[in-house]
Amino acid sequence: MLLKGNVVAKGINSKIKEMELPELVLAVFHPVGDESAESYLRMKEKKLAKAGFAIKVIPVENTMEIEAFYVALEEANKDDSIHGIMVELPLPIKVSNFELSNRINPLKDVDGVTFANQGTVFATREEGILPCTALASALIPEHYDVEIAGKSVLVIGRSAIVGLPLAKLFLNRNATVTVAHSRTPNLAELAGNADIIAIAAGVSGIVTSSQIKDGATVVDVGINFTDEGKLVGDFTLDQENEAERINYTPVPGGVGVVTNAVLIENLVRCYKMQQK
Ligand code: NAP
Repeated sequence: MLLKGNVVAKGINSKIKEMELPELVLAVFHPVGDESAESYLRMKEKKLAKAGFAIKVIPVENTMEIEAFYVALEEANKDDSIHGIMVELPLPIKVSNFELSNRINPLKDVDGVTFANQGTVFATREEGILPCTALASALIPEHYDVEIAGKSVLVIGRSAIVGLPLAKLFLNRNATVTVAHSRTPNLAELAGNADIIAIAAGVSGIVTSSQIKDGATVVDVGINFTDEGKLVGDFTLDQENEAERINYTPVPGGVGVVTNAVLIENLVRCYKMQQK
């Protein structure tokens, strides 16, 4: 089965539409001149506008002083007209991830990057703000009633923002989880034995469909571009009609679509937490 993201996103979006909310504002620290950040920004703008929300862009030039960046971040933290903060990476200035994670107000942390929000995931509580992509990747198999409890899950990638929290979300759902990374020697064997494979490596073709057992599910988080500029994931189909044999999320149209919806949901959650 093809696990399309738009159905999952629609469910999230329509729940938000039913709520009575003011015009929420997401502040985005945006790396100037980064082409892919530019297109993500336009896409975020479009999705937020559709939900009746707005974006405030704070440009980060490569000439920006680090102190000036922190001042702007602190202003956004304190500004009551801003409900969520997102820092698009990589920034053209050298800000350490550690500093970044500590300086965003956790109540405005729409992508769950602060230690406070990451800590709640690892404390097996999901009522904080969860990283958008990790949550989207767990919601898709759930939406399509893919059994998770008791299943063997392979997560490829261990970044703090995708792989690690996703592994914990699967663990919270009672799966038996293996986390693979660039030093894992037997990836094909692990993929072949897994019931669910979530791939967040950023390596096109790192897992191919012929490696996967019948009935397995692949959640493809990867974003890669071919030499021709075509967007592809980390998972490659190398046999025909694989949707009849296995379940997988398409790229584009899978995890990315749900991630956008979760971002908006997280903005709403931030707003609600700020009201308490
Ligand atoms: P990242 O920080 O670069 O982490 C990549 C992870 O993959 C690392 O843990 C790395 O292992 C592992 N890895 C790299 N090559 C590998 C290999 N050959 N075999 C096994 N593991 C390997 O990236 P990220 O931020 O987590 O993002 C992962 C992917 O998801 C990227 O393609 C990114 O563009 C995409 N993404 C998609 C969305 C979406 O909405 N769809 C959102 C965010 C990110 P080490 O730890 O050993 O280096």
